[in-house]
Amino acid sequence: MKILLTNDDGIRAPGLHCLCRYLSKIAKVFVVAPLWEQSCTGHSITYGRPLRLHKAEVPFSEEAWAAGGFPADCVKLGLEHVLDFKPDLVVSGINSGANLGTDIIYSGTVSGALEGQVYDLPSLAVSLIKEGENMTAAALFVRDFCLAWQKQSFRPCTTFNINVPPGPIKGAKYCHMGRRTYTNVFDIRTDPKGELYFWLQGDIEADDLTGDVQVTADGFISVTPLWLDLTDYRLLEAGPLPQILF
Ligand code: MN
Repeated sequence: MKILLTNDDGIRAPGLHCLCRYLSKIAKVFVVAPLWEQSCTGHSITYGRPLRLHKAEVPFSEEAWAAGGFPADCVKLGLEHVLDFKPDLVVSGINSGANLGTDIIYSGTVSGALEGQVYDLPSLAVSLIKEGENMTAAALFVRDFCLAWQKQSFRPCTTFNINVPPGPIKGAKYCHMGRRTYTNVFDIRTDPKGELYFWLQGDIEADDLTGDVQVTADGFISVTPLWLDLTDYRLLEAGPLPQILF
């Protein structure tokens, strides 16, 4: 097995190093990760300015590179430039922090994996809901999941979004992308010159517990297949849609 590994917490992040170590037992792991932390950068790519690539050291990897860009840049660089073969899998993580429900549209971790899907490669993203908690368990789960997926020749070719809860883990479940909203999104502060600035944080609103949000709250690892086709098929099939006047 050959794996292209990225993340959004940066090339020095403990989650990346831990995952590389465990995946190296079952695969050759090639790392291309951001030089600096790129959390919450979504599916950004570097455009209209140079993208630099630097040789890096990640223990247990075949080779490692740090890119001065975003996770999606790293996967593109890995597939277009670093590797002269197609990997079996693109893996992103282990992220420090949850990527549940609508978090995934902001997540650099998930976008790193989804960039693999752009290239028709199977991929997965893995995140810890609480920083540093159950990191080894997450790496072992991903290792075993990759082996099971390999047994069926990496079919279906999709992107799995995996979230690992803190505390004792009861098991793992496939589930849909849930929803969580935030209140007090901005902390409003005053800078030394008396100007207001906004610090994004937010408290999680837990009133809509469905899908991955519920599964992880119940103590299970959530595994959600994601597909890049954002079409609202409910409306195409059943409507109602406004009449098109042409
Ligand atoms: Mn992150």
